[in-house]
Amino acid sequence: MNSQSSHVDVVVVGAGFAGLTVARTLTKAGVSVVVLEADDRVGGRTMPGRVAEQVVDLGGQWVGPDQLHLLALAEELGVRTIPQYLEGEHILDIAGRQARHTEDQDLPLQPADLAEFDKVTAELDALTAKTDVAAPWNIEGAGALDGQTFETWLRGATESAAARSVYRQFVKTLFCVEPGQVSVLTFLQYAAGSHGVIHMMSSRGGSQDSIFEGGVWQLAGKMAQELGDAVVINAPVRSIAQTSDEVTVTSDAGVWTANLAVVTAAPPMAARISYTPALSALRDGLTQRMPMGSVIKLHVAYATPFWRAQGLSGQIISDRTVTGPWFDRSFPGVETGCLVGFFVAGPAQAWADRSPEDRRARALEDLTTYLGPEANAPIDYVERVWPAAPWQRGGYTTAAGPGVLTAFGPALRGPAGRVHWAGTETADVTPGYINGAIQSGKRAAADCIEHLKP
Ligand SMILES: Cc1cc2nc3c(=O)[nH]c(=O)nc-3n(C[C@H](O)[C@H](O)[C@H](O)COP(=O)(O)OP(=O)(O)OC[C@H]3O[C@@H](n4cnc5c(N)ncnc54)[C@H](O)[C@@H]3O)c2cc1C
Repeated sequence: MNSQSSHVDVVVVGAGFAGLTVARTLTKAGVSVVVLEADDRVGGRTMPGRVAEQVVDLGGQWVGPDQLHLLALAEELGVRTIPQYLEGEHILDIAGRQARHTEDQDLPLQPADLAEFDKVTAELDALTAKTDVAAPWNIEGAGALDGQTFETWLRGATESAAARSVYRQFVKTLFCVEPGQVSVLTFLQYAAGSHGVIHMMSSRGGSQDSIFEGGVWQLAGKMAQELGDAVVINAPVRSIAQTSDEVTVTSDAGVWTANLAVVTAAPPMAARISYTPALSALRDGLTQRMPMGSVIKLHVAYATPFWRAQGLSGQIISDRTVTGPWFDRSFPGVETGCLVGFFVAGPAQAWADRSPEDRRARALEDLTTYLGPEANAPIDYVERVWPAAPWQRGGYTTAAGPGVLTAFGPALRGPAGRVHWAGTETADVTPGYINGAIQSGKRAAADCIEHLKP
């Protein structure tokens, strides 16, 4: 182990988008920093992978037109966006009925089911409009909204099996937990952060509008490159001790003293660090109650995007399969086709400890159901099992269950003396997204600058 020891103004824990943004913002303001990253790479919940000799995002991938922090960063660092491929028909297989629709059409539900779906959406949108992303616990009726799971709420909101099933798929896909594991208030907070329910779930014009040429992970690499020696990888932080004068941060790569520390690991990962003096009961209680979602991300490459010739977009949403949703992730300018899909929520929990061969076989079986036998002849496959990743242990974000936000939410952002918090979970725009991680990093850096003033 290469052990170092030094003094800086601010120690940043974690080199994901939040931590790198904190460090970059502080460095530009003349504040000295070190970024200690537990993993052997930067990027956190974003990272590259290779499938059929093309580079893909194994973690975060999409960006929406409203995600201005991420779009500005990409522009500054010279990485272009490309629209998500949405030509042709999507497949929706819900409540025993399979149908197709284009991106611009309504969901292909029976008229009565569609009316119920629209009614549920309108109710959620009305609540979302009243929700403050930064303090959702202030909404009128917060106790009741936070006191029930999304599943309980949904059962009361409609009797349409199809409308319920579409919403269950949405919630699983958005939070990577079952609808019975996340509170209504948590759902509203995320929807409010993403300009409403439909925007959050949509591709064109919504949160899944575009991807980045070469992958979003590159932006983390570029930020780290700028920071140079200030980023130390293979440096898991084990403890943070503070006195009235300074913090001492002990990692496997050495010990740093600083005026302040900013912890950007997701709340359940931040809880694995030992703090002296102990954190407040409220903050510790929060981190005990904000589990990571469960997600396994898959890429399946084919000689050609054969589904396009069938008039299909590659988008599949189904309540009959183990895997899904699926989207087209083919590469501009090459012949190869690629589908990106997921095990989310219950299926990710159930399949995370199985073999890659089992997961691949399951994914191909599901794809063959909708795309025919050609789907069973891929040329390559790559996956990332996020619940097994030692320093992230899941994704895309945390999912607070009933009662957590109202009782413990105020401890999300408030500093613990010289220890500040950042990370997408603490964002007040688009929490859960890369854009939120960047915003939280800017906010934490501004807080540190304020704190450092004599
Ligand atoms: C499969 C998947 C798909 C996703 N899709 C999208 C998408 O399409 N669009 C989108 O916007 N978002 C998406 N997300 C979410 C997005 O990736 C995250 O919101 C964002 O990357 C979080 O950044 P962060 O800096 O807050 O946290 P992280 O990226 O988790 O960074 C925290 C860092 O802290 C490190 N760390 C943990 N413990 C310690 C310790 N003790 N000492 C030192 N370092 C430590 C971790 O290794 C990590 O690098 C997805 C995530 C996943 C997993």
